Amino acid sequence: MAAITAASYGNKVILIERNSSAGKKIIDNRNGRCNLTNTVPMNEFIKKFQRKGNFLRSAFSRFTNKDPHGIFEFQRTKLKVEDTGRVFPQTDDSKSVLEIL
Ligand SMILES: Cc1cc2nc3c(=O)[nH]c(=O)nc-3n(C[C@H](O)[C@H](O)[C@H](O)COP(=O)(O)OP(=O)(O)OC[C@H]3O[C@@H](n4cnc5c(N)ncnc54)[C@H](O)[C@@H]3O)c2cc1C
Repeated sequence: MAAITAASYGNKVILIERNSSAGKKIIDNRNGRCNLTNTVPMNEFIKKFQRKGNFLRSAFSRFTNKDPHGIFEFQRTKLKVEDTGRVFPQTDDSKSVLEIL
């Protein structure tokens, strides 16, 4: 996400990755679905980080828990919201997330 954001501002970006391919960790995740974000209101979202929440408040004011929706929907990837607000790709397959990134 940092590399994508830096490049979107016109910067030349080199992404160096130790694994055999970039984003390998996304498809290796336990349930294979990739929980992209959560739709709860920002104050509730920040509370989930407990004491670290306040430190993250400033970063989350610039990139909110709703912003991943925009990135994926711009690429026409359908998302679904499950119980407790968790957001997944409608394919239930983390590979579709990696393809977009
Ligand atoms: C089993 C599991 C499931 C998860 N599921 C989800 C989920 O569904 N949704 C979610 O939001 N979060 C999930 N997480 C948490 C998520 O993976 C982390 O919060 C996130 O990956 C942290 O991102 P990062 O960029 O800080 O670190 P990382 O994703 O760890 O990225 C660091 C990268 O740097 C590379 N690297 C390290 N050292 C070097 C080096 N010396 N040279 C070159 N490259 C190097 C690593 O290979 C790695 O790719 C999950 C975590 C685990 C363990």
